[in-house]
Formats: sequence, structure tokens, C-alpha cells
Amino acid sequence: MFRPKPIVEPGLTVDEAKALLQKIKDGDIKTCAHCAGIHARACPRVRKMTFVGDEIREISFWRDDKYNNDDTIWPSDLQEVADREEA
Ligand SMILES: [Zn+2]
Repeated sequence: MFRPKPIVEPGLTVDEAKALLQKIKDGDIKTCAHCAGIHARACPRVRKMTFVGDEIREISFWRDDKYNNDDTIWPSDLQEVADREEA
């Protein structure tokens, strides 16, 4: 399975990571339905989407190694940081 490369900000503290994870849990931040990450703009994984009204009729994705996910935060990375001991 595709394993996104870790891109958590180097400066993200354990507390910040925990706070973000809590926001995901509370529903304040939604993870993307298409890539399971968090990003501010349209999903970089989606290559093409066709809508009928509000419903997605057709969707195609970039190959996992063919799109730029540098601006995506992965919950698994947040968890990794949150699990770290404070130095
Ligand atoms: Zn996405």
C-alpha cells in the first residue's frame, strides 16, 4: 500500500500535533475523502472530477508517485509526532 512520505513540519511540537489530532477527532478539521490527508486547497491527488449537480459522477486520481503532496499533512505523521517523548 502507498505510504505517504512524512512531511510534518520539523518544528511541530508534541503538543501541537496532539492539538491537531484532537481537532480531527472532534470534527473541527476534516480529513480529505480522497487522500485521507489534510490540505487547505483542492485535493492534489484528484486528477479529474465530473459532477452532476452536487454529486461526483466520475473521479480519477494521479498515480501515488505522480502528484505533489508536499502541502498535505497526514494524520499518521501527527500521531507519530504526538507519540514522541518530549526531549
Ligand atoms: Zn485530498
